[in-house]
Amino acid sequence: HAAKTTNEPVLVYAPRLDSASAETLSLLGDLRHALAHHELRLYLQPKLDLRSGAIVAAEALVRWQHPQRGLVPPVQFIPFAEQTGFVRQLTLWMFEQAALWLAAHASAQAPLRAAINLSTRDLLDPQFPARLTDLMQRHGVEASHFCLEITESAIMDDPQRAEHTLNQLAALGFKLSIDDFGTGYSSLAYLKRLPVQELKIDKSFVMGMSDDESDAKIVRSTIDLAHNLGLTVVAEGVESQAILQRLQAMGCDEAQGYHICRPMPASAFAEWAQQWAKPAA
Ligand code: C2E
Ligand code: MG
Ligand code: MG
Ligand code: MG
Repeated sequence: HAAKTTNEPVLVYAPRLDSASAETLSLLGDLRHALAHHELRLYLQPKLDLRSGAIVAAEALVRWQHPQRGLVPPVQFIPFAEQTGFVRQLTLWMFEQAALWLAAHASAQAPLRAAINLSTRDLLDPQFPARLTDLMQRHGVEASHFCLEITESAIMDDPQRAEHTLNQLAALGFKLSIDDFGTGYSSLAYLKRLPVQELKIDKSFVMGMSDDESDAKIVRSTIDLAHNLGLTVVAEGVESQAILQRLQAMGCDEAQGYHICRPMPASAFAEWAQQWAKPAA
């Protein structure tokens, strides 16, 4: 009988972040090659509405299906892509993949939003809003179908230019979200000025909720802060039913995490969402 197949192990791929090294140049070459040879993959993780129990969005998370190294997670190449500027191409590629996915799957009955992670580099590119507009026109999707996630640190790199770009993106109709909220160095005075509609509580606080009361208090305060500012609030890193219920009781709007579903290849999403929507037998 057939031999049992084993899953390819995920190997660590972390060259030194030294821009002069040959290793770095070769990684940049590898990334360009990866993009050209379709080794990058769109993974999606559902965002659950805690009031209705419906899946309302999916976050786009990149993976690199490397021919030798297996499935490489973004922590192993995103920092490098940011350093070299390659991340701008990556963002546009992810946005386009998400647009194609939306055009194929988001029906009127089940409207879904795709959340895309941006980097500082995108916010500093004056052409960025126009590039997104161009992609949306090409694929027949609208800005209201997207949420753009930005970390506090990406904004604080150059707050004035970031604010300018964010205003343009908001004017185009994109929903804007602050990712990993609570871990960066943004000031509340600054946040108040930005045209954002959502805060995503960093997973470190959410994961710590069960055994660290300070984390639970931070989560509760962030939910209240968001609501007082008229923002929706999402908890990331929800790994158990207990935490999900506690978030629900705290009035958190949306949740994302392994307890609901791990990020999956985009091609698997529709079937998963259909199963989710089925009432329990
Ligand atoms: P992020 O945007 O904060 O994404 C959430 C990360 O938390 C994802 O890791 C997701 O798989 C993970 N996660 C979700 N639920 C849970 C959970 O319950 N427990 C735990 N322990 N983790 C959970 P991932 O996919 O490895 O991505 C890591 C980071 O890489 C992302 O953090 C984001 O900053 C960056 N990234 C991923 N894809 C892209 C991309 O296309 N563009 C850019 N610029 N950055 C990306
Ligand atoms: Mg994110
Ligand atoms: Mg996050
Ligand atoms: Mg994160």
